[in-house]
Amino acid sequence: MDAAKHVSAIAADSDYDPNSMPVAKAREYIRAFLAPVTAVERLHVRAALGRVLGAEIRSSVNVPAHDNSAMDGYAVRFADLKADGESTFGIAGTSLAGKPFQGRVAAGEAVRIMTGGVMPAGCDTVIMQERARAADGRVTLPGGQRLGQNVRYAGDDIRAGQVVFKPGQIVRPAELGMIASLGIGEVSVYRKLRVAFFSTGDELVPVDGSLEPGQIYDSNRYTIYGMLARLGVDPIDMGLIRDDPAAIESAFAQAAQAADVVITSGGVSVGEADFVKQLLAKLGDVLFWKIAMKPGRPLAYGKIGSAHFFGLPGNPVSAMVTFYQFVRDALLVLMGVPDPQPLPLLKAICTSAIKKAPGRTEFQRGILSAGDDGQWTVRVTGDQSSGILSSMSQANCFILLPDAQGNTPAGAMVDVQLLEGLI
Ligand code: AMP
Ligand code: MG
Repeated sequence: MDAAKHVSAIAADSDYDPNSMPVAKAREYIRAFLAPVTAVERLHVRAALGRVLGAEIRSSVNVPAHDNSAMDGYAVRFADLKADGESTFGIAGTSLAGKPFQGRVAAGEAVRIMTGGVMPAGCDTVIMQERARAADGRVTLPGGQRLGQNVRYAGDDIRAGQVVFKPGQIVRPAELGMIASLGIGEVSVYRKLRVAFFSTGDELVPVDGSLEPGQIYDSNRYTIYGMLARLGVDPIDMGLIRDDPAAIESAFAQAAQAADVVITSGGVSVGEADFVKQLLAKLGDVLFWKIAMKPGRPLAYGKIGSAHFFGLPGNPVSAMVTFYQFVRDALLVLMGVPDPQPLPLLKAICTSAIKKAPGRTEFQRGILSAGDDGQWTVRVTGDQSSGILSSMSQANCFILLPDAQGNTPAGAMVDVQLLEGLI
């Protein structure tokens, strides 16, 4: 596939059937054409939240930097402790986090130490304070201790010289903290992906307009904006385009100029597709598929100039489902994440009976909740028509019914995919 320069070469594959494209196959086809961004920019570490590292991060320090105590207690030489029975030590001083003990620890001496305090030279073991009895500058410690207990060693978390992150790592809160723990205040991240999007349809009205009979408000431009913004790309809203060949042609040309990726909704279903097809055949190299899935059957994918193009179905639920199932991963790859992890599946008991014909993957909208016995159960949101956007809002998961599955009786185990965490 890598050798194919044109998306249209896919059509020569022996098992290629644009009218019944399995979900997995469509993903695979798309994947073969994705070339990630390469340009990087330097950012202050906090500004890198949600971005993708464009260079490896190597530590020049040990974390922690010193051997230190994991407990509040007393640091001693293990050899000075009796194996069984108590030992009494003189208290030589104190080691607080950030204020090490400076003196020498003689045989038979202990140092009062706090969590994070540097281990005094010569000491190798910490006894927690709850086990100690201190009085008059002396401390009595029990036997039965273990050499090295309650000590955290320099480099336990990260060793000096270690590659901590590779390029392609998404920066989440934990990564921000790790980078800061290395004393690094600036990082290289890939530039933001530019994603232009527009809606098509004569029936659509922008949110500040008023509806004439037969018209509806354009909601896809809002769901798509939201999904893009959460992914951390740079969304470019190209507005609402009439079903007019000249207007659509110039919108495509402009979008492909301005962005790495162009996403449209509407205009790819049967009936409308022919007219968009002709236009796109002129401007680029685009395939039109009927995916074996519900909702979200029509999907167009290809290249317009150097931009990737995703033509999503117009139905509001279909547009969201196809975005999550095809566009999200593709954008992550383009953003520089080499191998986006598949969304985790959870097993749950489905309390609703679901009618389904084998031969297509279904993404029903579900409400997942923990039953009294702690077992996860899921029910469908109600009307599963692809125009019922409230089903996406009520849902906290997709109920994923694979190709081969038929009707699902109430009480069956199903796979669910959580909506939160999709980013
Ligand atoms: P289409 O894919 O253009 O045939 O549209 C399929 C259905 O989705 C029709 O009922 C459209 O009115 C509706 N639709 C298309 N685009 C949008 C949009 N941007 N916002 C809300 N509904 C839409
Ligand atoms: Mg339309």
